[in-house]
Amino acid sequence: MARLAQTYGLTDVQQEILATVRDFVDKEILPVATELEHRDEYPQRIVDGLKELGLFGLMIPEEYGGLGESLLTYALCVEEIARGWMSVSGIVNTHFIVAYMLRQHGTEEQKEHFLPRMALGEVRGAFSMSEPALGSDVSAITSKAVKDGDDYVLNGQKMWLTNGGTSTLVAVLVRSDEGHPRDAPPHRSMTTFLVEKEPGFGEVRPGLTVPGKIDKMGYKGVDTTELIMDGLRVPADRVLGGTTGRGFYQMMDGVEVGRVNVAARGCGVARRAFELGIRYAQQRHTFGKPIAQHQAIQFKLAEMATKVEAAHAMMVNAARKKDSGERNDLEAGMAKYLASEYCKEVVEDAFRIHGGYGFSKEYEIERLYREAPMLLIGEGTAEIQKMIIGRRLLEEYRFEG
Ligand SMILES: Cc1cc2nc3c(=O)[nH]c(=O)nc-3n(C[C@H](O)[C@H](O)[C@H](O)COP(=O)(O)OP(=O)(O)OC[C@H]3O[C@@H](n4cnc5c(N)ncnc54)[C@H](O)[C@@H]3O)c2cc1C
Repeated sequence: MARLAQTYGLTDVQQEILATVRDFVDKEILPVATELEHRDEYPQRIVDGLKELGLFGLMIPEEYGGLGESLLTYALCVEEIARGWMSVSGIVNTHFIVAYMLRQHGTEEQKEHFLPRMALGEVRGAFSMSEPALGSDVSAITSKAVKDGDDYVLNGQKMWLTNGGTSTLVAVLVRSDEGHPRDAPPHRSMTTFLVEKEPGFGEVRPGLTVPGKIDKMGYKGVDTTELIMDGLRVPADRVLGGTTGRGFYQMMDGVEVGRVNVAARGCGVARRAFELGIRYAQQRHTFGKPIAQHQAIQFKLAEMATKVEAAHAMMVNAARKKDSGERNDLEAGMAKYLASEYCKEVVEDAFRIHGGYGFSKEYEIERLYREAPMLLIGEGTAEIQKMIIGRRLLEEYRFEG
């Protein structure tokens, strides 16, 4: 796809990385994605290939063995990967968030201990805020850590861990009111723990159980799990950043870059849906001509392409803002909101263009149709994005009269 979703002003290195990823997607991901997805099979060969490309260390600083690239480079790679298969971008994403949180908030010992092995993809990250009774309302977390000698003892149940089974390092957000006044606001009494574990299911460490994979409508291949902590002992030096009570802010920082990532996934899936739609529209004939020659279909294609362009531009803007060191919560919220809504709409239009065949599992659009809704939920629903956007706008445009 030559014309849409171009990004101007990229360095030679960025262009080279993107060309390599695009080639990998075309050769190694697209040809097998739908088949693996239908079997809900973990794409081990693809993951091994991404490791070789250095993708797991893309944003990890060079001093820790990574490529030290920007959020923009990362987001553009994610867009390409999601164009091939969204689940693969999910495998990279939680790893990337945990590495980012370590880079921003970890102690020097924690960085040295984890980041070099994360850059190689040997240690793989998952992050865990959600619980069975909460997702949007993070302040309602009930999982708890209690200090016991040099350790903390963690109890509680977590929900919806992307890469919960395959990861070996989970950043877990729990309540820990030790050292804080009882009436402290909930977000000041939360702590992120870095929990190392074996990959797999069942008891993966004493006091820590990953029961099994959640059966999902889409986003298959990548494992999504629960996590049960029952007397899990974690040493105090595995508190992210070394100080309790900062977990909420650390996680929100991670989720903010995660939102750019989800926007990028929306861009990638929408671009693929557009490609499938415009190709099919030129192959299928009705009433004596290709359906692409009916104005109603052309209008659909025009709307789809416009949405692909707009979402890409907003995603790039949000990434560049963060890379420039500025606060980007407004831009990231807008990009995530717009890209995920547009993605759903573009996929729906491509599905309609396919007529009855869109309903057949033989056609790729059927997979995309089941994948797009996940983006409306992950890293905060549309309603949560609008809350963030609205609050920030009122800060920016405060009426002083
Ligand atoms: C496939 C998948 C993977 C996931 N991976 C992870 C992961 O790796 N780590 C992790 O921690 N979590 C993960 N999640 C959880 C995800 O972040 C939550 O599902 C999401 O934040 C929404 O929370 P909820 O499902 O509890 O919905 P709820 O918070 O219960 O919301 C239900 C509905 O109410 C709306 N709503 C809620 N509050 C308000 C409000 N104040 N005003 C208006 N509307 C409101 C929501 O927008 C939504 O429409 C994953 C979820 C899925 C489906």
